[in-house]
Amino acid sequence: MKQTFAERIVRQIHGTVLRNEPMARHTSLRVGGPADWFVAPADTDDLQGLLTLLAAYAVPFLVVGGGYNLLVRDGGFRGCVISLEKFDRLEREGESLVHAGAGTENAALARFCRDAGLTGLEFLVGIPGRLGGALAMNAGAGGGEITDALETLVTLKGRTVTELQREQLVFGYRFLQLDPGEIILGASFRLSQGIPEQIRGRMESLLQKRRETQQVGYPNAGSFFKNPVAGPAWRFIADAGMRGVRVGGAEVSSVHANFLVNRGGATADDFLALAAKVKNRVRESSGIELEEEVRVVGTDRE
Ligand SMILES: Cc1cc2nc3c(=O)[nH]c(=O)nc-3n(C[C@H](O)[C@H](O)[C@H](O)COP(=O)(O)OP(=O)(O)OC[C@H]3O[C@@H](n4cnc5c(N)ncnc54)[C@H](O)[C@@H]3O)c2cc1C
Repeated sequence: MKQTFAERIVRQIHGTVLRNEPMARHTSLRVGGPADWFVAPADTDDLQGLLTLLAAYAVPFLVVGGGYNLLVRDGGFRGCVISLEKFDRLEREGESLVHAGAGTENAALARFCRDAGLTGLEFLVGIPGRLGGALAMNAGAGGGEITDALETLVTLKGRTVTELQREQLVFGYRFLQLDPGEIILGASFRLSQGIPEQIRGRMESLLQKRRETQQVGYPNAGSFFKNPVAGPAWRFIADAGMRGVRVGGAEVSSVHANFLVNRGGATADDFLALAAKVKNRVRESSGIELEEEVRVVGTDRE
């Protein structure tokens, strides 16, 4: 008798397989309906097997990291959400090369480099999330971006693993070009020798600065909008009088105007309506067209 998709995915995958998993559990905004399937493959073989299975049944998929830059709509995700949380290998090669799996937490990578006396990724200590998400977003802070020290990116398309050199990549502000369905498996970074005490000091002061400016007290996804060329998004939002404005449980933080926060019980629809309001008011007050930094995915509630 022919096996169903549900029977095959449960039998075949060695990693974690969850059904009807609320995405609110996997996003820092704490909103989002259920994913039909939420799978954390055990390793690359397991992931390749999963992709083959998904292709055979035409099941769409979405790869997530820590969900710190993700707004999942209230209807959830029809298909399979893939988490690479088990891909957290960290390894040093020679003096200055560090290999990291896509599931490595950014802060763990920063601390690994610090302990190895290597400088160049200190800023990652304050950026929540995992390496795959940070690379896909070309995450950055204080003028540095994760692609600065990147030497090689390892990706998977279907069953094919490809190593791409930095020169082959197309990236920009909070942007890295990936083909549809291309999954980041890991990366290698070429770093410089540094003085551990100075590296530690830089990381401490970066964290301190964040505590002073970003302590918003409620679930959030960091900067909701990209900074336009004309200046920081928070200033245009504040100038438009949007601090503290609320739709349902979603609110423009009064501490940091580019952070939209969940004051409790917010839905994805609340965030989408609030974001639309912010964009309209900013357009009216300063003529600036804000663009979401947060990635909006999934389907509306039926
Ligand atoms: C308090 C706070 C402060 C923040 N400060 C900063 C900051 O200073 N600078 C900054 O840049 N960001 C910041 N962010 C946003 C967020 O931390 C970063 O964008 C982070 O890199 C997202 O990583 P993630 O693992 O959570 O990715 P997710 O939010 O899970 O995913 C982000 C995107 O990457 C894709 N993706 C994830 N993993 C993979 C993979 N393996 N292969 C292919 N695509 C993948 C997803 O599909 C999605 O499109 C902040 C967020 C918070 C909550």
